[in-house]
Amino acid sequence: MPEGRVTIKPGREKPIRNRHPWIFSGAIARAERAVDGELVTILDHKGRFLARGYWNSRSQIQVRILSWNDLPIDGDWWRQILTRAFRARAHLRQAQNDVGAAAYRLVNAENDFAPGLVIDCYGDWAVIQAQTLYIDQHKHILAGIMKEEFGWENVYERSDIDARRAEGLASAQGLLMGKSPPETIPIAELANYHVDIQRGQKTGFYLDQRSNRRILHDLIQREYSAPTDAVNLLNLFSYSGGFAFAALKCGNVRAINVDSSRAALELAERNEALNGFDNPQSCSKSEYILADAFEYLRYCQDENQRFDIIVVDPPKFAHHKGQIARATRGYKDLNLQAFKLIKPGGQMMTFSCSGAISRDLFHKVVFAASLDAGREAQVIQVLSAAEDHPVALTFPEGQYLKGLLLRVN
Ligand code: SAH
Repeated sequence: MPEGRVTIKPGREKPIRNRHPWIFSGAIARAERAVDGELVTILDHKGRFLARGYWNSRSQIQVRILSWNDLPIDGDWWRQILTRAFRARAHLRQAQNDVGAAAYRLVNAENDFAPGLVIDCYGDWAVIQAQTLYIDQHKHILAGIMKEEFGWENVYERSDIDARRAEGLASAQGLLMGKSPPETIPIAELANYHVDIQRGQKTGFYLDQRSNRRILHDLIQREYSAPTDAVNLLNLFSYSGGFAFAALKCGNVRAINVDSSRAALELAERNEALNGFDNPQSCSKSEYILADAFEYLRYCQDENQRFDIIVVDPPKFAHHKGQIARATRGYKDLNLQAFKLIKPGGQMMTFSCSGAISRDLFHKVVFAASLDAGREAQVIQVLSAAEDHPVALTFPEGQYLKGLLLRVN
């Protein structure tokens, strides 16, 4: 059957020519022979070729563009896309140690010109997340390419994300190819971490924060090189203790990890042992508190506890534009309470991973929180996701993770 055709309304082709990969229903004049989950050719109102992408009538984003060249999208095309992404991560494949394997994001969806496709790698396992119908229907082909091109034997699927509902897809999880993963895979960064790719959050780990964990570690080394007292770190929304163990590596750090997920804290405790911080001789110590972070901040205020450094890494508060106002109040309150607990001259690392909240808005919210807390703050560093989470210049939505490293006076 010939490929379906999608004609764009006059005057609505500019974002497409500017290589934004999403086409919303409002820009579409008509669709002919377009089948959900299949490729379509995109034409301007005069019938001229604009791009090629895949179609889903059920989604608000009816077309996701794969290519702006009039060439077929086939196995070779995907091979090219995956190979390019694979080559760009060569240095991260070297990052392993005696305890843990290399871990990195191999494909970052739209930002690696593979809309709807995320692949994270943990040692010998690749974890695929199919966000859209087309990718879902092609996941076995993509797993096959992973094997042929890069020798990947084991591919596990973690497509258990809410965003699939907007595509008319149920959640999906399980082995696609090769061997079932072990209960956890130990990985190597500055510290080592257990990754549970079957039951953990996302694909098992927050790889996007790797570079920021390094920044926290380096900050402590630089600014607390000879402390008389231990450095007190409050790690809010800790998950498996990512930030805490990078910090503990500096020695003489006391971390409190707060998360509302018991499973996350259990994994964190196992990570403490994996890194030897449970050894009585270790100068660094870690604690785990199962609590709501907002409530814990108020408890610390009542107890008059203060910290040298606070990391604030909450989950996504705004899932779409309609939630921006409410999310903004959440970020404001969280940062306000955190500012109040920082010792003069201490630091705060604060994040938003909501794609709907712009960097500009996030900075304004943090600024307002500092004013209300009566604390003067300086930006030491503007933070983003690690380099294996590139952002396509044509796709500002790709810059979901934004953060600030602040000195708080
Ligand atoms: N900083 C982590 C990633 C954090 S993801 C890392 O580097 O690995 C957000 C975490 O917030 C999740 O682990 C989730 O369980 C937790 N969470 C969500 N709502 C919470 C709340 N109200 N209070 C405390 N933790 C919460």
